[in-house]
Amino acid sequence: MKMLLNVVEIEKYYGTRNNLKKALDRVSFSVNSGDFVSIMGASGSGKTTLLNCISTIDSVSSGHIYLGEQDLTTISSAKMAAFRRENLGFIFQDFNLLEPLTIEENISLPLSIKGIQGKEIEKIVKRLMQRLNISDIAGKLPAHVSGGQKQRCACARAFVNNPKLILADEPTGALDSASAKQLLSMLAELNEQDRSTILMVTHDPFSASFGNRVLFIKDGNLKKEIDKGQHNRNDFYQTILSEISAFGGE
Ligand code: ADP
Ligand code: MG
Repeated sequence: MKMLLNVVEIEKYYGTRNNLKKALDRVSFSVNSGDFVSIMGASGSGKTTLLNCISTIDSVSSGHIYLGEQDLTTISSAKMAAFRRENLGFIFQDFNLLEPLTIEENISLPLSIKGIQGKEIEKIVKRLMQRLNISDIAGKLPAHVSGGQKQRCACARAFVNNPKLILADEPTGALDSASAKQLLSMLAELNEQDRSTILMVTHDPFSASFGNRVLFIKDGNLKKEIDKGQHNRNDFYQTILSEISAFGGE
């Protein structure tokens, strides 16, 4: 397995000199190409901060983050937007779709920006919409579809460019349990079939069980890591639950 993401001793402080809050405390881990990794922890433990540092939305106070050969902590702000667009895909809890655009247009956007030809875009987007079971709502506006459909659209938009790394922050946070399960199954399928690499923040053990590794974070520290190994999803779910109770619950 080839290492894709290498997080080395990152620290993140918020606030001012007299009122300093350490959100991340020398966090190190790596993610191999093709991994589906969940980051779990209670509210306020630093999950979003960690994801935002990796996505270059936020900057670290110290340490390094490598995506392939590129150190994300030293990339110039002039190159940042292009780097993000070419290498990263995002899925947020609240979908972040462009409301005036149709579902199909939302998914097409990253390819249009890249300058890919219209016919080619249509082919790629149609295929992806089929896989995510949203072909029937292609022409609708986000306001006219369900939360589950919106998130599958956001998922298609994140994957359409074949980014090196997909970053998802509580992607099932706003979904009912049936839609959540559907989305997670599709993420797991995209991970398995296309060898996409996914880093997902969640506080939900059921969601985490769809990946193949879980990192536990508490008070900005990485406390423990578990691997699915050869176990099935339900066994992995039970293991995650017992780890959480070993921590004294969330
Ligand atoms: P999580 O996503 O696990 O709930 P966060 O990463 O959002 O946790 O927050 C970690 C800690 O950092 C919390 O104590 C939070 O209050 C603090 N924090 C996060 N963002 C900011 C910010 N922009 N300014 C000050 N403190 C922040
Ligand atoms: Mg958060």
